[in-house]
Amino acid sequence: LPAALTRLVADNLREIPDFPEPGVLFRDITPLLANGPAFSELIDGLAEHYRGRIDAVAGLESRGFILAAPLAVRLGIGMLTVRKGGKLPGPVIGVDYALEYGTARMELRPETVRAGDRVLIIDDVLATGGTAAASIELVERAGGSVEAICMLLELAELGGRAHLGGRGVDAVVVY
Ligand code: AMP
Repeated sequence: LPAALTRLVADNLREIPDFPEPGVLFRDITPLLANGPAFSELIDGLAEHYRGRIDAVAGLESRGFILAAPLAVRLGIGMLTVRKGGKLPGPVIGVDYALEYGTARMELRPETVRAGDRVLIIDDVLATGGTAAASIELVERAGGSVEAICMLLELAELGGRAHLGGRGVDAVVVY
């Protein structure tokens, strides 16, 4: 990814200690979204990078949606919504995964994936990698091929990459 995007994102993030619960350092992308020129430059840069390489963009609920939708429109391709359990009307496929405390579930409507489509998975933050790993499995089970995974921010110390089956991650910023 272009180095200009790294600066753009790094300069427009906010860190909030103890949100949404004690001990979590929350990485907030709302300053980036609120900065019109920066948001637009980010989407343009991502579109240039992935143009011709992908057939669909899968956004991970919820902040991934904010990135996936403008990118899909810019590229003239479809957007897939990978959603938290219980949000999508059926038929859906789902993957349960472990969180630090408890479990979570992501779901996808397989009918929205065309067989063999090259799919970009996009989200704001790669932390433990559980959400991304579940999303990869869903896209593949639906018949898509995961071409790339793009994260605005990778929290490297949490080891998320190790859960992605040896796939590379296009991280705009790595902490
Ligand atoms: P994980 O499954 O642990 O990789 O967590 C990824 C999901 O949780 C992403 O959808 C992120 O939006 C969110 N997330 C995890 N950790 C953080 C954090 N420190 N700041 C903001 N969002 C986070």
